[in-house]
Amino acid sequence: MSDDTPGRLTSRSRSVAGKVVLITGAASGMGRSEAHLFADEGARVAVTDLRQEAVDEVVAEIEGVGGDARGYALDVSDASAIESVTEQIRADLGPIDVLVNNAGISVGGPIDDAEFEDRWQLAMDVLLTAHQRTIRACLDDLRASGEGRIINISSTEGVGAQRGVLPYAAAKHGVIGLTRALAVDLGTDGITVNAICPGPILTGMTELIPEEHRDKFARRRTAVRRYGDPEEVAHMVLNLALPSSSYITGQAIAVDGGLTIKND
Ligand code: NAD
Repeated sequence: MSDDTPGRLTSRSRSVAGKVVLITGAASGMGRSEAHLFADEGARVAVTDLRQEAVDEVVAEIEGVGGDARGYALDVSDASAIESVTEQIRADLGPIDVLVNNAGISVGGPIDDAEFEDRWQLAMDVLLTAHQRTIRACLDDLRASGEGRIINISSTEGVGAQRGVLPYAAAKHGVIGLTRALAVDLGTDGITVNAICPGPILTGMTELIPEEHRDKFARRRTAVRRYGDPEEVAHMVLNLALPSSSYITGQAIAVDGGLTIKND
């Protein structure tokens, strides 16, 4: 949407009002925060996650503050479910303008572990293969939108690695590769493709880490010396989804409190 008021130099919209936004893994943590933020900004949000009851709770929260959302059970490792759920979202809310690949799990383990092969496969299925499937399921809509946006949640583990997280780190590195290659392929379709690399964020994924360990890690590793809040990531997702962000593509943007630049 552009503003053609005579004399006005700026024309690009900073609004996602009316956009249809599909978010995976939106029942908790960053995904839930993203769902709320997009709804606060007037978008129509498809809240998806593993369990229907969990997405229904988030939809009720959003509707309770006047937002527009629908909930769908979607396991992103199920290829046929991706097809049927995106079809249903299209029927209920309209064509998808913004896709946020957010769902994730923590999968670690050493390479010589007996169950390594299974863990590797699980990490790839949920954290990487699912992304290209959701993207393919939304691609016609994103092209038709003219301002299609794909935002993939990678991690600071997508640009480096802590000890013991090999399957997760490999998949998250893959998300950045997928993001860059796809940005090049879709550049002339008006679709931007970007990745976000969150640092340590207090969510369902990290809440079981004892508080003293979290504090120690954040003080030692981040410039701001604290864990991040899911909303601090959600705002970057929203920024990348704006029509005005049309010249930002193929980037892996850290939202990490300075973790990846801190040398001391
Ligand atoms: P979270 O556990 O609070 O939320 C993740 C959500 O994904 C959950 O609701 C879960 O049910 C859902 N999910 C898991 N497997 C799924 C599947 N197969 N299909 C659909 N949904 C599924 O954790 P979070 O930290 O908010 O995670 C969001 C994203 O951020 C993930 O991709 C994660 O890898 C990434 N990340 C997290 C951190 C962190 O410190 N929390 C840091 C970097 C990246």
